[in-house]
Amino acid sequence: MIMMNSQTKTSGLDDLIFDNRFIRELPADPETVNNRRQVFSACYSRVLPTKVANPRLVAYSREVAELLDLTEEVCKSADFTQVFVGNSLLTGMDSYAICYGGHQFGNWAGQLGDGRAINLGEIINRKGERFTLQLKGAGSTPYSRNADGLAVLRSSVREFLCSEAMYHLGVPTTRALSLILTGEEVIRDMFYSGDPKPEPGAVVCRVAPSFTRFGSFQIFTARGEIDLLRKLVDYTIVTDFPHLGEPSLDVYLQWFEEVCRRTAEMIVHWQRVGFVHGVMNTDNMSILGLTIDYGPYGWLENYDPNWTPNTTDAADRRYRFGNQPQIAFWNLGQLANAIYPLIEQVEPLQQAINAYKDTFERGWQTMVAGKLGLNAYDPSIDNELNTELLILLQSVETDMTIFYRKLAILVMDVELGDEALMAPLMEAYYVPEQLTDEYKARLGNWLRLYIKRIQNSGIADAERIKTMNATNPKYVLRNYLAQLAIDKAEQGDFSMVNELLELLRHPYDEQPGKEEFALKRPDWARQRAGCSMLSCSS
Ligand code: AMP
Ligand code: MG
Repeated sequence: MIMMNSQTKTSGLDDLIFDNRFIRELPADPETVNNRRQVFSACYSRVLPTKVANPRLVAYSREVAELLDLTEEVCKSADFTQVFVGNSLLTGMDSYAICYGGHQFGNWAGQLGDGRAINLGEIINRKGERFTLQLKGAGSTPYSRNADGLAVLRSSVREFLCSEAMYHLGVPTTRALSLILTGEEVIRDMFYSGDPKPEPGAVVCRVAPSFTRFGSFQIFTARGEIDLLRKLVDYTIVTDFPHLGEPSLDVYLQWFEEVCRRTAEMIVHWQRVGFVHGVMNTDNMSILGLTIDYGPYGWLENYDPNWTPNTTDAADRRYRFGNQPQIAFWNLGQLANAIYPLIEQVEPLQQAINAYKDTFERGWQTMVAGKLGLNAYDPSIDNELNTELLILLQSVETDMTIFYRKLAILVMDVELGDEALMAPLMEAYYVPEQLTDEYKARLGNWLRLYIKRIQNSGIADAERIKTMNATNPKYVLRNYLAQLAIDKAEQGDFSMVNELLELLRHPYDEQPGKEEFALKRPDWARQRAGCSMLSCSS
């Protein structure tokens, strides 16, 4: 049962200015009883967060607080915890869950919707920027289907830390303001193995200009609700793509092309930093080209394009690292199908979707050049250079992050022998026995080709190192680090969550004294649940 939330007045939080345009301008579900149902002819349903007994703040992001013009003092206040766990609504908040659908693992799944996300409202900050505040794990909604609307601490720590880590890496992403324990238990069967256990519940407050997904458009087309489709497209263009001008047939196509370009840019970043989303269903694709819905994601340790952390996808590996570019393209194809009724011509949609391939190809080349410290990618030389490198990285277990970072400190002397050249890279190897003479000779050859490539292009070494260190992070949210922080947090010790949050604010800096967080995955983490294997259960 949902209890009525009181309207709270608090100084600081009270200064937030709400302008809830989404619910003001788009059609509401007239039903306000919070039962699970198919919601037709509406973009959202009003719903209140469920109150919890004993909330406790685990962490907050000072940068997101600043975006919202909240002081750190306010973030530490009891009122902040009450508001961002969903126990009290501020004046101006008007909470709702959004209706959307999606293709899950390649199949149309019908209505999904915010099953455990509740939007509190949209704020306008002092700079005039608009942000939607959304609680994840604050109780059931009409879209909860057969689940409980809740989230556990482990998945909430992962979402909170990764959102902020990605932001500081320069990857487009939704943000996270806060992570709050509810003080209540949630039952989860982590690997769907018939072994349900109580776990601590938590709520993350996510922040983004909009949480609209590809699936938000798909649901209306699937139901033949074409006026709603048009309303949401027009709304999205006017609100989130205002530079495109008044909606029209031409503007629809420009908008779709821009979504294709933004999506391509996001995927290039994922491939650059070794991020595997894990569940690239169309309901998890942001219309703004933001990384959204951090579930069973993971970071590549040893470079392996076939790797996915998601055990739910183990059979097909649809969402493996190396497949992410193709999947994004497939998802854009589904979005094209969804907006087809507004365009009614295939050809211009086809042309627009080509923008994905062009942007991805160019972005990928620039990214590869940056990772190698080149000032430009020359396909006639670099296609071969990079292909050989990727073969080498896969042929023995090589930590991707460490390898690229250490490549910057290579001694740029082609006269050196294989082992001398390789010396700075040794930390990247997981299994020293794999480093056969044959491998060393092949890598040595590659390193000499690389040195010559740099020397021929006349790039000064300081310049090369600077480019590489700005492209190749030293610190990422390694899967085992997140798990160690979770283990501690589950014991009531939030220090490592906060330490990682701090560390990951400067992923490209050396940060003396923090090197232990840049080490490769220890052996114990190879097969441990949460480190290399995750499921959708969260
Ligand atoms: P995901 O693949 O995790 O993004 O989730 C797919 C759909 O399931 C979305 O509509 C979610 O809101 C919903 N969902 C996931 N977990 C829960 C939960 N614990 N309670 C209610 N809905 C959920
Ligand atoms: Mg989702």
